[in-house]
Amino acid sequence: MEKAEIGLIGLAVMGSNLALNIAEKGNKIAVFNRTPEKTDEFYESAGDLKKQIVPCKTIEEFVEAIRPPRPIIIMIKAGEPVDQQMELLRPYLSKGDIMIDAGNANFRDTIARFDRLKDTDLTFIGMGVSGGEEGARHGPSIMVGGTEDSWKRVEKVLTSIAAKYKGDPCVAWLGNDGAGHFVKTIHNGIEYADMQMIAEIYGIFRDGLGKSSTDISKIFGQWNKGRLNSYLIEISEKVLAATDPISKGSMVDMILDKAGQKGTGKWSAIEAQNMGIPATAIEAAVAARSISSMKGEREAAEKIFGKPEYKFPIAYGPDLDKDLELALFAAKIGAYAQGFAVMAEASREFKWSLPMPTIAKIWRDGCIIRSQFLDEITSAFTKAPDAANLIVTPAFSEMVKESIPALRRVVTAALQAGLPVPALTSALTYFDAYRQGRGTANLIQAQRDFFGAHGFDRLDGKDFHHGPWGSGAATF
Ligand code: NAP
Repeated sequence: MEKAEIGLIGLAVMGSNLALNIAEKGNKIAVFNRTPEKTDEFYESAGDLKKQIVPCKTIEEFVEAIRPPRPIIIMIKAGEPVDQQMELLRPYLSKGDIMIDAGNANFRDTIARFDRLKDTDLTFIGMGVSGGEEGARHGPSIMVGGTEDSWKRVEKVLTSIAAKYKGDPCVAWLGNDGAGHFVKTIHNGIEYADMQMIAEIYGIFRDGLGKSSTDISKIFGQWNKGRLNSYLIEISEKVLAATDPISKGSMVDMILDKAGQKGTGKWSAIEAQNMGIPATAIEAAVAARSISSMKGEREAAEKIFGKPEYKFPIAYGPDLDKDLELALFAAKIGAYAQGFAVMAEASREFKWSLPMPTIAKIWRDGCIIRSQFLDEITSAFTKAPDAANLIVTPAFSEMVKESIPALRRVVTAALQAGLPVPALTSALTYFDAYRQGRGTANLIQAQRDFFGAHGFDRLDGKDFHHGPWGSGAATF
């Protein structure tokens, strides 16, 4: 019997959709699931694609069914289960076989898995997959980390299943070991910021301007035809237009205002902090989800302090909707600039040589943050590959100059009205601090020297590093 081109373990939501996608693109695939009944169910529901699928009940049978060197996608619950599954697989594998973790792994776990296989003749790939269930089935964005040789073995299959942006496949090899999972983590961090900023604008419309979900949906629909065109704006338009089958009112109005999180946003913020790179919009978005979950505390505090006025200034001006659109655009630039800056530093620290234009390119379709905007980022980084930050590339500096005044007006008005806009504010103050040639850290250095004799450098470069403030300190 002709051997399968690839194997896949884990037939839950993501794995079964990915397996069908692989089969549909003409690749023969062997599948296995810990609970064998799920393998039967999956195979029985595969319809015409059955002929491309080899359902296996034992690991031995599964490994035998794949053409060596065997690429084996592990798409199961992240964390400990992946290590357990790898241990169960190992005795059956041979030289050059590649275990591919396609779940949402922490990239530090991915690096540890590479290390554990270092002295064996097996290899590993850490693969970030974005796009949820729909993406897995019809074309995800795929971020690959591993050796170039192992990438070559899987390139054809992965290219066939990835989303395509104007014909370009949204998959790439991004570097060694944890590179793919790191980039996926930052993708999710940016996704948190993007979603939070849209939610803050929604809050301005709902609470500051008294608009209904239907009205806001229509505005987002308009915005989706312009520079904010993106999957997240598109789904926001759709969810705001939906009717609750029970109350017959707006569906969104009936949803409890507590947002969940699975950890990738938090990992992005932690890694940014570890490397000393500001990712304030991402941090604000993670914190906003945490405060959203404190529903009881928020309600109790509202009883003590009362509701703020919430009203946007009436005299704001006739172009309010346009200003909000431009403000969201400016803030979005800030969040993406931060995400890319974190990846640039990680690339240096972990010696990955992450290709920034390629990352923007493979996020243009298939993933949750897919948008036209990412095409502009691709082009900006292609033209200015050594730019210190997205906002100083020639293309984006012009967009920032055009849009920041709107963000400033919107944030100012929202703060005056008592509307919480932490991610929008973070993006604005990030810009204000980043473009300030002379900041205020001179005072911090003086304070540090005062209480801890930490020393400072002088603007004039003179060899004089302590202030005239403590006993024993140098004096003028
Ligand atoms: P999941 O609910 O995270 O996990 C269920 C699968 O894991 C089942 O196949 C289960 O097998 C298997 N499993 C659990 N513990 C195991 C163990 N100790 N050994 C072997 N198999 C074990 O599945 P999912 O939602 O499809 O997600 C899979 C991965 O993709 C996760 O890392 C997830 O974070 C990531 N991801 C998910 C999404 C999404 O939208 N859902 C998007 C992107 C990435 P049994 O049937 O035997 O229980």
